[in-house]
Amino acid sequence: MKMYNFNAGPSILPREVIEATAAACLEFNGTGLSLMEISHRAKYFQPVVDEAVALTKELLDVPAGYEVIFLAGGASTEFCRVPYNFLEKKAAYLNTGVWAKKAMKEAKLFGEVVEVASSAAANYTYIPKDFVIPADADYLHITTNNTIYGTEIRKEIDSPVPLIADMSSDIMSRPVDVSKYNLIYAGAQKNLSMAGVNILIVKVDALEKVSRAIPTMLNYMTHVTAGSMFNTPPVVPIYCAMQNLRWLKAQGGLEKMDRLAHERADIVYGEIDRNKLFRGTAKEEDRSLMNICFVMNDEYKELEADFLKFATERGMVGVKGHRSVGGFRASCYNAQTIEGVNALVACMKEFESKH
Ligand SMILES: *Cc1c(COP(=O)(O)O)cnc(C)c1O
Repeated sequence: MKMYNFNAGPSILPREVIEATAAACLEFNGTGLSLMEISHRAKYFQPVVDEAVALTKELLDVPAGYEVIFLAGGASTEFCRVPYNFLEKKAAYLNTGVWAKKAMKEAKLFGEVVEVASSAAANYTYIPKDFVIPADADYLHITTNNTIYGTEIRKEIDSPVPLIADMSSDIMSRPVDVSKYNLIYAGAQKNLSMAGVNILIVKVDALEKVSRAIPTMLNYMTHVTAGSMFNTPPVVPIYCAMQNLRWLKAQGGLEKMDRLAHERADIVYGEIDRNKLFRGTAKEEDRSLMNICFVMNDEYKELEADFLKFATERGMVGVKGHRSVGGFRASCYNAQTIEGVNALVACMKEFESKH
């Protein structure tokens, strides 16, 4: 049976990218050795990092003065590295979900944290608007895509202070005006690569402005200076990211990804809104194109487990919603196909016809 991968993360990757990475694990570039057993200092690996950096700069149109680095530790480590490197006195945070809250918790260890707005009282079903950003904050931290709740900020926020964004689950899904950000970071395992590496796009000028001493490995400047090679980097996830960046470019880049994301999301949300059994959980104007969250309508609540079983039997993988939202979540990252979303919609229609 053909499987359709809707996992929220780790998540779907293009088949070609998985095959190229698997091949390099068996033999890397005709060296007779596996990618897993060569030195990252060997002349063979540097071109991989260089290409991943160059492709990121090209795809995101990264302006001069920014550097792209790859670091281990997961996006969760950036929650503490961000205030370590950027919070001198006060930072502003937009609370749009569990990941944003975790980022705030770490920042509080370093200084004053202003929560500019929160949608917690509505279980994060919308993105707060019209909030006041303190002009004396060192930065405003946002989570552009809320993986768990299926809400997304797709328009650049107008801010008097530099932005820092956790783009873990929508990086490379659309063009971004990088110049508005002091830092963009993302764990790779949602929309870029396999787990094990973070991508960071950092404004070099904005570093080394805090007065505290920063441990070497937590200091972004260490890794900017060393070109992601200060210590042994996660070579396989970086290689996989490089292959995926090549794939993204070959597909037509981020404008194309944005168009396809809209196309996929229109198909799924269209069915959620039409089908009498289901309803979306996020406020319409804030609906994520990456993680589509929906539940059974109240009068059909008891069919939830049945639908999950029905969809699973037809090859849908990972459509169970996060426990804090319930229902279902169809993650539609870059590698998700129109065929995949059509297969899900066919399941929803068929299930409706039975009830
Ligand atoms: C998954 C996720 C994280 C956490 O990533 P780890 O790599 O597991 O630490 C952080 N932020 C967002 C938006 C996520 O989706």
